[in-house]
Amino acid sequence: MIRHSTIPLVLHKIVQDGAGRQFEDIEISMFQKILETCQGRCLSLDKVNICQRLPGKSFLLTFDDGFSSDYESVFPLLQQMDCLATFFLTTDNVGANGFVSWAQVRELHNAGMTIGSHSRTHPDMRCLTLSRQREELLSSRLCLEDKLGSAVTAFSFPFGRFDMDLVRLAWDAGYHTVGTSLHGVTQLPSSLLPRNSINGSMTWESVSQILKAVPLTRVKWLVEDVTKNSFRAITGDSMYRTLRDILTNRK
Ligand SMILES: [Zn+2]
Repeated sequence: MIRHSTIPLVLHKIVQDGAGRQFEDIEISMFQKILETCQGRCLSLDKVNICQRLPGKSFLLTFDDGFSSDYESVFPLLQQMDCLATFFLTTDNVGANGFVSWAQVRELHNAGMTIGSHSRTHPDMRCLTLSRQREELLSSRLCLEDKLGSAVTAFSFPFGRFDMDLVRLAWDAGYHTVGTSLHGVTQLPSSLLPRNSINGSMTWESVSQILKAVPLTRVKWLVEDVTKNSFRAITGDSMYRTLRDILTNRK
């Protein structure tokens, strides 16, 4: 059987224009172009069986953090273009200023979107004690399941920071799919999900390369992930983010 390959993407806040944009914020015009490319081939994690019937590659759109733009900007466009997506929420932030409300989360879920956990408080999970790591994983899942009345089986790591001990802990906590920020193409269902990050420093040309995911691009991803993680390990997260923002003209 030929296995169907899927290109997973991770996006964050969608903004109306570039003013005051943070590194990860995407302008809505860029998001519309992405959706036009993915239209008809968008999966959500709860509906992976559909992928067997889709021609060519499919896409998995994921959104981290639960910004209010998930509901206000992303959801109307998804519905207009008949696309599905997966939203990873930090449960303590739901209902806070700038984030989605529980009523909006339920509406997304009822419309067929997958809801996953992005932890309870959005910490760097590697810096927590084992009991706090377990608590972040479990309490956020139980909270989402209580609010939605259905199983929640997907988790993504805050800041994309993780190690294999944390992945195993997430699986033990009841998650079937664990999302990272490593580049890659996958076959669903996937227990360890790569996700290609789209950020505000990218031109449409560079986003197109991600969406095409030709073999040369995949080699570049491998080099980029090794380089980035080595650099992050040497400089520390704070210095890494500062240098990243300087290099991409955010500071
Ligand atoms: Zn996050």
